[in-house]
Amino acid sequence: MDILKSLGIVELVISGGDPLLRDDAAEIIDYASKLFVTTVYDNGSMAAKKIEALRNVDFVAISIDSLDEAKNDYIKGVPGSWRRAMETVEALHKAGIKVSVTPTISQLNLYEILDITNYFTHKGIPVWYCLYSYDASEDKKQLFRIGKANDEFIIRDNQAMVKLCDSLMEMKKKNNRILMTDELLKTLRTLFSEGKRTWRCRALRNFLVIDHLGRIAGCHVHNFAGSLFDLPRLWNSQKFKTLREIYIKCTQCSYLCYIFYSIHGSPYGHLMLAKDQWKNAKLLLEK
Ligand code: SF4
Repeated sequence: MDILKSLGIVELVISGGDPLLRDDAAEIIDYASKLFVTTVYDNGSMAAKKIEALRNVDFVAISIDSLDEAKNDYIKGVPGSWRRAMETVEALHKAGIKVSVTPTISQLNLYEILDITNYFTHKGIPVWYCLYSYDASEDKKQLFRIGKANDEFIIRDNQAMVKLCDSLMEMKKKNNRILMTDELLKTLRTLFSEGKRTWRCRALRNFLVIDHLGRIAGCHVHNFAGSLFDLPRLWNSQKFKTLREIYIKCTQCSYLCYIFYSIHGSPYGHLMLAKDQWKNAKLLLEK
């Protein structure tokens, strides 16, 4: 982690259930939280059992896709997931852990996103979003795969998505628990209204991905580019410069987190973030 810090990386996202399964999860999270703005993603299955380990985390993001139990469990494909996730959010919130809810916007819950947002933010629980996406690439060498094409989830009602972006921008004026920047919402709006990508991907500049073996890649869609331990040597190498040139022209995905880091990961991006959400940006700047 010191390697990442020395390169000026300020934020660490721990995703997948595995880190929370480890016996030393508390120690790792505690150490990471001292160096970075740290977010732990969970589907609600582990976080409630690891409350003490999560005490110092900046955000614990629990994924809930609907307020309707049956619908949520259908989307997740796991019976009982809604109840477990709701109880986890409640338990973490009660225990004073910085919990937030992250619905994945898809065609199945598109018309419900405002209700989900209102429900949790009125309880004092922040909300941010993922966007249904899947790996279209057939590259067998990509770091890992997430999602698969499912017609039911693919957003077909682009106008409703545009309206949702407008409504969220309007709601944000009075509701500071919606953790999306105007810039990100505007970018999404243009993507759905005009089909235009107004951002350029900044993989391996503003963000990178590390897997459980310490392999790194610009994003999970591409093959690994080296090991974490080689990072200081590789960061300014010709190899990384060439990869950055490839990634900046890449249009293979529209994962919201990668769009966010592409827009906000630079010093200018941080300024925009600070302007938009100074309370959260303060966390970044303090670290
Ligand atoms: S657009 Fe960027 S994040 Fe998405 S696949 Fe291409 S390089 Fe990766």
